[in-house]
Amino acid sequence: MGSETESARRLLTGWGRTAPSAAEVIRPATTEALVSALSRRPARGVIARGLGRSYGDVAQNGGGTVLDMTGLDAIHAFDPDQGTITVAAGCSLAALLDRVVAAGWFLPVTPGTRFVTVGGAIACDVHGKNHHRDGSFGEHVTALTLLTASGDMLDLTPEGTPDEFWATVGGLGLTGIVISATIQLLRVDSSAIRVDTERTADLAETFAKLRASDDTYRYSVAWLDCAAAGRLGRGIAIQGDHATRDEVDSVPPVPGLKPRISSPRWLSLAPILRSPAISILNEVHFRRARTAAGQIEAIEPFFYPLDAVGDWNRMYGRGGFLQYQFVVPLDREDVVHTALELLHRERIRSTLAVLKRFGPGSRAPLSFPMLGWTLALDIALPAPRAARVLAAIDEHVAESGGRVYLAKDSRLRQELVDVMNPRLPEWNTVRRRLDPDGVFQQDLARRLGLTGASP
Ligand SMILES: Cc1cc2nc3c(=O)[nH]c(=O)nc-3n(C[C@H](O)[C@H](O)[C@H](O)COP(=O)(O)OP(=O)(O)OC[C@H]3O[C@@H](n4cnc5c(N)ncnc54)[C@H](O)[C@@H]3O)c2cc1C
Repeated sequence: MGSETESARRLLTGWGRTAPSAAEVIRPATTEALVSALSRRPARGVIARGLGRSYGDVAQNGGGTVLDMTGLDAIHAFDPDQGTITVAAGCSLAALLDRVVAAGWFLPVTPGTRFVTVGGAIACDVHGKNHHRDGSFGEHVTALTLLTASGDMLDLTPEGTPDEFWATVGGLGLTGIVISATIQLLRVDSSAIRVDTERTADLAETFAKLRASDDTYRYSVAWLDCAAAGRLGRGIAIQGDHATRDEVDSVPPVPGLKPRISSPRWLSLAPILRSPAISILNEVHFRRARTAAGQIEAIEPFFYPLDAVGDWNRMYGRGGFLQYQFVVPLDREDVVHTALELLHRERIRSTLAVLKRFGPGSRAPLSFPMLGWTLALDIALPAPRAARVLAAIDEHVAESGGRVYLAKDSRLRQELVDVMNPRLPEWNTVRRRLDPDGVFQQDLARRLGLTGASP
């Protein structure tokens, strides 16, 4: 794409490539062009879009306007002493990392891909493998500038303007357009990660492992084998922290151990695999994993294994796929167990399943993470029984006091949204103040009645 503002009618989907909808997509090259595009106030509204890495329809606006923010991606200021960086919202985490890692800084929170924008990371208040220790992305944003529906530029901070700031963090782009943000980075001694890996025999042991040792590590997740009958939820706990320079120098590569990656190696093939093959490859991956302590890994394979495979989402074919992620309170491990049982019984094989323990949620009313267990599952479509089974799991999640991650959703039942998001009215009060005429609209909000409008 060039530097000029571009505009075209396009069919958009999320990363899961389901539920396409057509919108006028404008990619402003300047803030002035962005303000001008917003001032047109099209009847079906406007929504910002980053790199389209949300799995569902949260960055779509069928029949309306979508403002592609990736043309506004400048790095405005970087202070290598204090570790603060101010960027335009369309700046990707990849570009940000390119700038800061060599200076001894890292992202305070990163999702499983670096190809997301700072605006998208704020709007979904994304979490990473360190949520139990460091919280979500928005908790490390010290200031942001929001373009509101009326064309005002508001400078928001967590302390100075808490209502507007926290409604925007996790606010799915519905409070306005984030123009720029300042982030407090994490000081690191090296660009490598020291990783411990341990196999677990079943789900109970996976829970026990994460519960016992999570706090020792900054980063912690478990890959789960959802296909092994009788041993559902056995897995591989992957835990680590940034390595010191001495550790990088002193730890030689372990003989016979190839560098471990956080996801199964066959994952890049997963989209074209069906149930029996997935079961076999889960088995192989589990058996090959060895208990290993203190392995030194680079940032990319540890945090972003899927980024190595460009456009891997297309390998799922025309049906696309969905990623289903929920969180339940810590004392409701039974819901995770039930979810795995239900999926297994109906032969719905997840190509990737990851379990993590979250720490307390942020102050943002619509933020997804909360103290509890989160399970994320990739499911290839079409999967005939998936809709019914996931709907049943939704009920268990809602009953437990948990919720489904809206940034990844494409199928939740509207009735459950209020139950799962008890602070939705509080968020809507602030949102209405910022956008009284409902200029910011999107497919997800319409589908789920998020802003009170009928779907
Ligand atoms: C491989 C992979 C791994 C992932 N891992 C994780 C993970 O570990 N943790 C996690 O939390 N998420 C994860 N995600 C999801 C992803 O991090 C989020 O969906 C993120 O919001 C995507 O950012 P984006 O720039 O692509 O935004 P989009 O998907 O384009 O948009 C997402 C939302 O942000 C809004 N938005 C975008 N830019 C702006 C702006 N400038 N102002 C206001 N609103 C804006 C949009 O309106 C939309 O509501 C993963 C996704 C993939 C594909």
